[in-house]
Amino acid sequence: MPHELPKTYDPTAIENRWAEYWVKENLFAQPTPARNKELHGDSFSILLPPPNVTGNLHMGHMFEHTESDILARWHRMRGERVLWVPGTDHAGIATQLLVERQVVSEGTTRQKMGREAFEKRVWDWKQHYGGAILGQMKRLGASVDWQREYFTMSEHLSVAVREAFVRLYEQGLIYRGAYIVNWCPRCQTAISDLEVVHDEHKGHLWEIKYPVIGGDGKDSGEFLTVATTRPETMLGDTAVAIHPEDERYTHLHGKKLRLPLMNRQIPVILDEWVSREFGTGAVKVTPAHDPNDFALGQRHDLASINVIDETAHINPEGGVYAGLDRYVARKKIVEDLQAQGLLAGIKDHVHNVGHCDRCKTIVEPRLSTQWFLAVNKVPDGGDQSIAAKAIAAVKEEKIRFTPEMYKKTYLNWMENIYDWCISRQLWWGHRIPAWHCGTCRKITVARVDPARCEHCGSDKLTQETDVLDTWFSSGLLPVSVFGWPNVTEQTRADFDAFYPTDLLVTGFDILFFWVARMIMMGCWFSTDIPMADGGPRRLGDSVPFRDVYIHALVRDANREKMSKTKGNVINPIEIVEQYGTDAVRFTLASMASPGTDIAFNVARTEGYRAFANKIWNAARFIFMNLDKGAEAGITVDPAVLGGMPAVDASAPLEDQWIISELNATSADVNTALNNYRFDDAANTIYQFFWGSFCDWYVEIIKSRLDFSQTMDKKATQAALGTLVSVFETALRLLSPFMPFLTEELWHAVYDGTPPALSIALTTYPAWRSQNAGAQQKMILLQDLIRTVREERKNRDVPEKEPVPLRVLESSNRDFGIDPNELILQNGEMIKRLGKVSVISLDKSQNDAGVDLVWRTLGFTDIALVHEKKIDVAAERERLSKEIAHLEELVANGEHKLNDPVFVTKAPARIVEGARKQLAENMLALEKARAALAALPPE
Ligand SMILES: [Zn+2]
Ligand SMILES: [Zn+2]
Repeated sequence: MPHELPKTYDPTAIENRWAEYWVKENLFAQPTPARNKELHGDSFSILLPPPNVTGNLHMGHMFEHTESDILARWHRMRGERVLWVPGTDHAGIATQLLVERQVVSEGTTRQKMGREAFEKRVWDWKQHYGGAILGQMKRLGASVDWQREYFTMSEHLSVAVREAFVRLYEQGLIYRGAYIVNWCPRCQTAISDLEVVHDEHKGHLWEIKYPVIGGDGKDSGEFLTVATTRPETMLGDTAVAIHPEDERYTHLHGKKLRLPLMNRQIPVILDEWVSREFGTGAVKVTPAHDPNDFALGQRHDLASINVIDETAHINPEGGVYAGLDRYVARKKIVEDLQAQGLLAGIKDHVHNVGHCDRCKTIVEPRLSTQWFLAVNKVPDGGDQSIAAKAIAAVKEEKIRFTPEMYKKTYLNWMENIYDWCISRQLWWGHRIPAWHCGTCRKITVARVDPARCEHCGSDKLTQETDVLDTWFSSGLLPVSVFGWPNVTEQTRADFDAFYPTDLLVTGFDILFFWVARMIMMGCWFSTDIPMADGGPRRLGDSVPFRDVYIHALVRDANREKMSKTKGNVINPIEIVEQYGTDAVRFTLASMASPGTDIAFNVARTEGYRAFANKIWNAARFIFMNLDKGAEAGITVDPAVLGGMPAVDASAPLEDQWIISELNATSADVNTALNNYRFDDAANTIYQFFWGSFCDWYVEIIKSRLDFSQTMDKKATQAALGTLVSVFETALRLLSPFMPFLTEELWHAVYDGTPPALSIALTTYPAWRSQNAGAQQKMILLQDLIRTVREERKNRDVPEKEPVPLRVLESSNRDFGIDPNELILQNGEMIKRLGKVSVISLDKSQNDAGVDLVWRTLGFTDIALVHEKKIDVAAERERLSKEIAHLEELVANGEHKLNDPVFVTKAPARIVEGARKQLAENMLALEKARAALAALPPE
């Protein structure tokens, strides 16, 4: 039998098959186009925010990928050259941490293994287990170009990283310097401000007395009291600062103090930065362990004494405390101060403590030598700094943010940006291409590993051990995935066609980490690649993307943030296995609008699975009729499929109507997607497919699908043709949202000989024509039919019993329509859908002894002719029970509202609700009493 379709919709059966098919057929591959064409106008390119190679798909990814995929599929079906590039990030810290834990569980450490062996081990891990998330994306049908999959540590992308580093170094924008960094003692690396999470912490404020030294070089007996949350850092103090105008301390100007425990003399310095109001107004200064103190130290030329080593133990600079863990040392220091009478007090103190985002260890601010990118420096021969360009790109609207508020967030961050610490003390990452000379101590930075020092010619070179911050390489992706730095006249086609990318869909959490860095790097490095026409690349075309869409968060059904500790994390793969990818995608899309978080509710997903099922059943009905038609020698010309049906004024009303609705729906969906209103788009399609098409059109058209001997062959063929073409068009309309279901049904429509490899490669329906008159007529008819159905229910008409319908002749022409004509002309439809036997047009509401209740519609009046047959005894009993129940409800309601405590204390809306409820119950009671009184005697 043709058009074979299993009886029940089983998403897992169809989804795996199509997911494999899409990958196998390379359907979404976008090969490098030929050059010298008008290229960019019809392209749409996006970059997948690279998930960590260690990652697994979570709901946030699924949401992001759903939005991106809907847009990618939509643009593709609109005939654009769509390229969506997938890949993974090597994720320096995360990956190293994971493999380190593995080797520790095997009884060794990375240090014992050595750098080379450990790096190899990480590569092995990556080869075997890395990128699981991409496999999950394949299963979920993301329409990316798998042939262009990238990995930030691949050879090709590493070339870009090296070139970028060397070029920036040559431009004088990379330097090495001592700086306070956030140090993770566990990961033993510097981490960026963005990788530090701050938690409120109940700690203490220790007040320590520093003896003032008198003119004789001995303790004068006076003390200056300072307060600190980290007493162990005092071992590295090199001054105490006071405000120059603090009158309490004027006499201490120029004096020295004795640093307790270390017995070192340190100066009292004057600085306006010190707040007179905070604490005692005297601040201990530890330049090596606090960013503010570091700045103070620079201003006052103070020594920086590093007293804490990379494992957070006190180093030999810490005197007798050397070797102690930082917290053990703290305890000991406090005890010693107390013993010496130098502890003025201990206060409870709640303050923010920074933790390493990866391993949760408390971060230790620490002075260390790092590599920096001078983002605010104008390079020699240049006219703008990196940050200035990145600011201009957004200020001048070369890059637009949706929601718009992120423009301000971005600019605020970029305008206050500090030099970027780009080095990390890890083994897994892009090793910095710099070599230290053992002879002259100078540095050689080179594109090719050097054999000799460029300064003195010595061959005693050792490569820098630090690697680059992961975001340094991912920041380069928009240029490096298209071949930068090796973009030549011959290889420029990708750049011509796809750069700048059109859109970036990403989360707020990596706005600064990644989005901002891509803007900095993209605007900086793409400028040396000419435009397709050979002209110079200006700012507007050097940006990495033209649009940034920041998606919201997926929360649980109670709007709570999903977290492992709360145990409310929804695993997308589990939900997909239960309801199918299409239903989950549709759930996400139907709630996605810019700036609105999603409260993910499984009940909705269940509803959308039912929606898919409804479409499946409609397809089975259509295919059954197509098969019947084939047997009767009626076929649908495939030429009527694939486009957008146009309204034919000579066609039956329902055909004109459904085609108008289809056109209107497609116009609305296209507009909604243009504005990132995924919710509007999804809900519009849902209303059309389930409501207009399945519930109305399919039901109406049933009477025209006549395959009997006496059929009007032409009319049946026309009916079948419209049915199939509307359905096929609606499938295409729905396809970006439910790619699997639509793929399956679309192939079935063509019965094995589809005009393309996939529905995803067909044309997206665009508005063509509409007949407003036909739509208005159907609104009136639907109103009438709904009222008939409601009346049948009111009058307990048995489901299968058709009843006569009386219509009052109407002179109403408000809608430019003659209602009498409309009703008589569409009698068949009303009879079928309203279960009506005959329709009569009455001149007046002449009841002629029959129990008729006339219902007034906006354009006419109607009544059903149906004698309500009732069992009087049973009805009496039912009504009596109902009355008793209502009497109780009314009494309770009155009691409640007479209670002054309730009326004054309960929230106003609760009281209002109780009042409403009481009024409703009283009305129902009145009605029930009247009905009981009206019952005829038994
Ligand atoms: Zn850490
Ligand atoms: Zn040298």
